[in-house]
Amino acid sequence: MKRNAAEVLERLRDHVGLLEESGAGFCLAGPKKPPAAGRAPAGGTAPAPSRPGAPALRAPAERGPSASDDRDAAAIERQVRECRLCPLHKLRTHAVPGEGNWEAELMFIGEAPGRDEDEQGRPFVGRAGQLLRKIVAAMTFREDEVYITNVVKCRPPENRVPHRDEAETCFPYLVRQIELIRPKVIVTLGKTPTEHFVPGRAGMGELRGRFGDYQGIPVMPTFHPSYLIRNEGNRELRRMVWEDMQKVMALLGRK
Ligand code: URA
Repeated sequence: MKRNAAEVLERLRDHVGLLEESGAGFCLAGPKKPPAAGRAPAGGTAPAPSRPGAPALRAPAERGPSASDDRDAAAIERQVRECRLCPLHKLRTHAVPGEGNWEAELMFIGEAPGRDEDEQGRPFVGRAGQLLRKIVAAMTFREDEVYITNVVKCRPPENRVPHRDEAETCFPYLVRQIELIRPKVIVTLGKTPTEHFVPGRAGMGELRGRFGDYQGIPVMPTFHPSYLIRNEGNRELRRMVWEDMQKVMALLGRK
């Protein structure tokens, strides 16, 4: 019993520390604003929190010469790797912070690591990852030009969909990553990440292909590569994803 209380206290302390560092709350999708092609104005105002009483998220600042700070990036990765804020840490081989360029214009956000990712500590290295990396290449980006991560940084058992509290507990890490990277466009892969950025109950079929907005950053929801793999024969799905990515490319001047 005593040990339980000490554990709870330690987790709470970790959690408060993380919140203080991130300046963020457990926020799901922010309020919908008209899509913006550029980034937020410097010192732009933070949107209203999505849940009553939740602290507002800080707006990403303008990209500048000192854009992302390596020490901060390393600190986030270390915090993720050492994180024990939710029970998923007990089952993991490796936490998976994400990888890529901390000054990327383009950021991909998936759901959570699977078995391969858990084994290697890297995001999207399994079958779905190979497909995602093909899409990145088709978009004329090198892998080291983009940043790839997930909403949840530890593998849920049997690759189940992360529980809401797991995703909310992990979300401040993602907020910090977005703040540091300040991408020009975010692509959310599948329902789990999309519902954190685009409010409402609509399904992916309806949400995909239209830019949402997160703190001045255009967010393009599209189908998860695993979904494409599960529906391999469905060429229409692939066409739709490519159509979505072409919109992203157009926004980034790659088309
Ligand atoms: N699926 C995800 O959503 N993320 C990964 O890292 C791998 C598979």
